[in-house]
Amino acid sequence: MKPATFDYLAPHTVPEALDALADSGRKTRVLAGGQSLILEMHLHRIHPELVVDINRITELDTLSVADHTLRVGALVRHRAFEQEHAVPGPLGSLFSRAVVNIAHPPIRARGTMVGSLAWAHPASEWCALAVALDADVELHDTNGVRQVAARDYFRGAMRTARRPCELITSVRFPLLDDDTGVGFIEHRRTHFCFAQVAVAVALTVRDGVITKTRIGLVNAADRPIRAHAAEQTLIGAEIGAPPAEYRIPEDHPFARAGQVAAEYDAAPVAESYAGVDYKRHAIAILVGRTLCQAAADERSRTTTSGGAR
Ligand SMILES: Cc1cc2nc3c(=O)[nH]c(=O)nc-3n(C[C@H](O)[C@H](O)[C@H](O)COP(=O)(O)OP(=O)(O)OC[C@H]3O[C@@H](n4cnc5c(N)ncnc54)[C@H](O)[C@@H]3O)c2cc1C
Repeated sequence: MKPATFDYLAPHTVPEALDALADSGRKTRVLAGGQSLILEMHLHRIHPELVVDINRITELDTLSVADHTLRVGALVRHRAFEQEHAVPGPLGSLFSRAVVNIAHPPIRARGTMVGSLAWAHPASEWCALAVALDADVELHDTNGVRQVAARDYFRGAMRTARRPCELITSVRFPLLDDDTGVGFIEHRRTHFCFAQVAVAVALTVRDGVITKTRIGLVNAADRPIRAHAAEQTLIGAEIGAPPAEYRIPEDHPFARAGQVAAEYDAAPVAESYAGVDYKRHAIAILVGRTLCQAAADERSRTTTSGGAR
């Protein structure tokens, strides 16, 4: 199907784009990578009267690091994160493990991280990482700029704190310390499907004891969530040598954290091929396995850098 007719504007600067978005008399959509918007327009599920194409605003196509913070501009494509060293330290490793799960290469070549945050699909990998890693979303309108913490930004499936007149110009992630271990595991029906569930972990261990964890859950609720209850069970746990991902003893802290995440943190929504009980079961298993992966990663980092364990 062809989309309904719409007006099209391709500004070269952020203020021009904001002026167009401020024209509240019309239903307006920003066009970034177009990998969700164009599809929805073709399916006649979205009918914008005006499309504001931001692809000519070169200042939005920037990836930078300052003050231990990564800033990802609104035109940085998914594929920019496929190379582990595109982003410093363990954050780059976590991003490169996560991004290969997004669709397939042509979609990753056009789609943007910020577009994913704007779209706010509960199965988006970036959205869960933003919540788990305390990212901030930067929103501009003609009156100025505001930063919204990712944990407050997502309001439900495809619902966010963004106002129609606002352009998301960037998202900021604090870098992860060099001794942080990371893991990411996704479960889906076929390679190109969205996640049924996925888990992201960042884990800090000092002298064999877990001092900090961040666990992000993808598609485990109507919005991306952080598994706070599961994280709490891990603080102070002695983990020793991490168990193999597929042989975690039932009384191991990682297995218990998986159970807690499934029971107390997750609020799964049933989908075709994945009911609520199925998702809870998958979350319990994947949290345990992803923690094992992160613990092994942490070991290899501290061993390589000669750090004390
Ligand atoms: C077959 C297929 C499989 C996919 N699989 C996955 C997957 O596994 N995981 C996943 O996360 N995604 C997946 N996607 C979606 C893909 O990642 C998109 O790239 C992403 O959802 C949107 O990014 P975009 O840059 O293409 O945004 P667009 O499609 O251009 O825009 C999406 C929405 O966000 C708004 N928007 C975009 N940028 C801004 C901005 N800067 N400010 C304000 N509003 C903005 C648009 O107006 C629109 O409403 C898949 C898509 C397809 C077609």
